[in-house]
Amino acid sequence: MRLSRFALCAAMLAAFASGAANGLTLDDYTRPNPACFNRAAQPHLTVADTHIHFRPFGGESVSYHDMLKMMGDNGVVIGGAMGIGQRLPWDARPGCDSYQDCRDLPANPTIKNDFVNAANFAEFKSPDRLLVLAMTFPDLAKPAEIPALMALYDKEYPGLFKLMGESNVVKQALFPNGHVPVTEAQIDQWSDFMRILRERDMPLALHSDLGNDEGEPTKYRALIEYVLSKYPDNKIIWLHLGMSSQQKAMDPLNHILLLQGMLDRFPKLYLDISWGVLEENYFSRYRQGYVNFINRNSSRIITGSDYVAYKNKQPAYNYADELRTSSAMNAYLNDEAFRNIALGQTYLTLLGMNNVYNAPQICPSR
Ligand SMILES: [Zn+2]
Repeated sequence: MRLSRFALCAAMLAAFASGAANGLTLDDYTRPNPACFNRAAQPHLTVADTHIHFRPFGGESVSYHDMLKMMGDNGVVIGGAMGIGQRLPWDARPGCDSYQDCRDLPANPTIKNDFVNAANFAEFKSPDRLLVLAMTFPDLAKPAEIPALMALYDKEYPGLFKLMGESNVVKQALFPNGHVPVTEAQIDQWSDFMRILRERDMPLALHSDLGNDEGEPTKYRALIEYVLSKYPDNKIIWLHLGMSSQQKAMDPLNHILLLQGMLDRFPKLYLDISWGVLEENYFSRYRQGYVNFINRNSSRIITGSDYVAYKNKQPAYNYADELRTSSAMNAYLNDEAFRNIALGQTYLTLLGMNNVYNAPQICPSR
């Protein structure tokens, strides 16, 4: 008895020494009967960060090894590695790390970052972490080229990529760099690659701004609804609840009602609550309303930091800070929603990985 207690303490010390703030390991997701997760004693930080950009738009990237270390240091066991899909030109001048740094340059979708991520994963794997690679290359305005590029991915890295996106339907932040919203006529032409995604049961994660603060709060609502109506049998993740830095002031109640209506109308729709701007502009303004909404729909909601691996913006662009801000909501959720979202059960089920990986249960509160 004393020995097992000692062993338990040693394991906990080792977990803390490795920086895993919550003590969880990937073993806790695969063992038949792992210890329950004690919310009273553990931090509320997201453990399944489903939205991490392992590469930046331009400039030097935080290294793959450092990305895995940052996940580990912050107790993140599951990571969704998304490109990022867009890159500034390879010969962009120094200082062009984000598209916002160089508005005169295009930031177009490309396979580059996905292939760097895949090469790193193939070489180094992700010891003690579950890393889920995403195809972020699609240019949704040029759907005809997507099936052939998927075939290239299949040839080079068969079975490695589990998700498609983040891809942009409309992202106003990119307008100055030449991005324009996808049109309904282009969405009509998605049918070939959407059929392949359905055959693989592979979700598609879409950035699709709802509107803006210039008097047009639902300017682009019709676009995401068109996608969902046209492809009701595809699993689609609507990222950031449709919000952006261009829309900080929508009425929260109207926002929630709109989201609930969409979930009710489209059974294969999932929502992503990643990105600190949601906490800063919405969750903190109408906490209880969003808590009720998220608790009610937690089997269809995932979360993440939306961190971008800008080496040249360190230490200002800090993973721990992004994770903390985007995790603030977790503390208010009920146990079921906390397990589904912060611990990642919804994500694992959405990806069909719940035959191998499952989040630990939450310890009963006293
Ligand atoms: Zn993102």
